[in-house]
Amino acid sequence: MNIHEYQAKQLLKGYGAPVADGVPVFQKGEAEAAAKKLPGPLYVVKSQIHAGGRGKGKFKELGPDAKGGVRLAKSVEEVVAHTNEMLGNTLVTKQTGPAGKQVNRLYIEDGADIDRELYLSILIDRTVGRPAFVVSTEGGMDIEAVAEETPEKIFTLAIDPEAGVTAADVKKLNEALKLDGQAAKDGETLFPILYKAFTEKDMSLLEVNPLIVMENGRLRVLDAKVSFDGNALFRHEDVVALRDTTEEDEKEIEASKYDLAYVALDGNIGCMVNGAGLAMATMDIIKLYGAEPANFLDVGGGASKEKVTAAFKIITADPAVKGILVNIFGGIMRCDVIAEGVVAAVKEVGLKVPLVVRLEGTNVDLGKKIINESGLNVIAADDLDDAAKKIVAAVKGN
Ligand code: ADP
Ligand code: MG
Repeated sequence: MNIHEYQAKQLLKGYGAPVADGVPVFQKGEAEAAAKKLPGPLYVVKSQIHAGGRGKGKFKELGPDAKGGVRLAKSVEEVVAHTNEMLGNTLVTKQTGPAGKQVNRLYIEDGADIDRELYLSILIDRTVGRPAFVVSTEGGMDIEAVAEETPEKIFTLAIDPEAGVTAADVKKLNEALKLDGQAAKDGETLFPILYKAFTEKDMSLLEVNPLIVMENGRLRVLDAKVSFDGNALFRHEDVVALRDTTEEDEKEIEASKYDLAYVALDGNIGCMVNGAGLAMATMDIIKLYGAEPANFLDVGGGASKEKVTAAFKIITADPAVKGILVNIFGGIMRCDVIAEGVVAAVKEVGLKVPLVVRLEGTNVDLGKKIINESGLNVIAADDLDDAAKKIVAAVKGN
């Protein structure tokens, strides 16, 4: 789950990180009062969407010559003018895709006098199985380009979870970022603060780009992107409260209501599978036979008929889906429950695309009987290989 920049900054401020003063704005009429709460004379008006690259982004409605999604303003009047131009329009950035994202919230922030822009993030480094800091002196711009063109300018430091951020770690990070004097002292307090927030809140990514050295020599978190581990949300009600569903895929929101592990993908074969490993294998074999899955979906072990029905409805509601593959290996999950769920869903919403069903395991005979007696137009398959071939052939029309 992702949150907005202003929410991430509020959260980090609670841990003691240095962030600028700022006020979120949801309506055009709120801009003047928001700006007046800030010291001035420099303000920044920042689009709040769940995507980066906002500064270099372009508003669809405003044409190529208009300013981007992060704008400096030198007066309250300018803040108001930018707000009126930006709010409600669609911002296209490198990360939004060509459709862009509608800007429904702005963040009016105190402007900083920037000396240097640095990059800092914390993530889980799977190669060593530990949280790691990734830092670079080349912040503010496209870090992917830095990684590709000048990888020596990126420094990675894994943290021992038992020890946390040690004095030796701080020294290495300060050196890598070329911080000294007051900035290095700020680093000494900031790095452990960010690490604490990352671990306590079960983040999967905490990215500060840029982290700045100001002209007065102090550090400040100027941008903040935070993602949380969805599987740990149950223990963070405060984080769940920050969720902005208007930023999320509708199908994924619906799936999360039923506690389904669902991820929307770009292909045209909808998949309903039990077990994450089998779901991955199913996607792989669809690709092997030359097609692409429309989604990842693990209905889980003890799914009810209602849950299966909901899952099937989510798949069929996706206009990109040109065929469906149900692949169940019943262990804890019973094949008859899957069959009942599929039949109930089809009765409700109909079935306009080919459906291949492969059932195996607990109550398989009963499951097959339910499907056969339902009168559904189902293509039966014996095993995974057979099922994948049949659905790919059906979708390709041969
Ligand atoms: P994005 O990464 O989505 O483009 P950022 O928050 O990083 O958005 O802003 C882009 C750039 O705008 C920053 O690299 C920085 O140069 C400038 N900027 C952002 N916030 C401020 C601020 N409060 N004061 C001064 N400049 C800012
Ligand atoms: Mg940024």
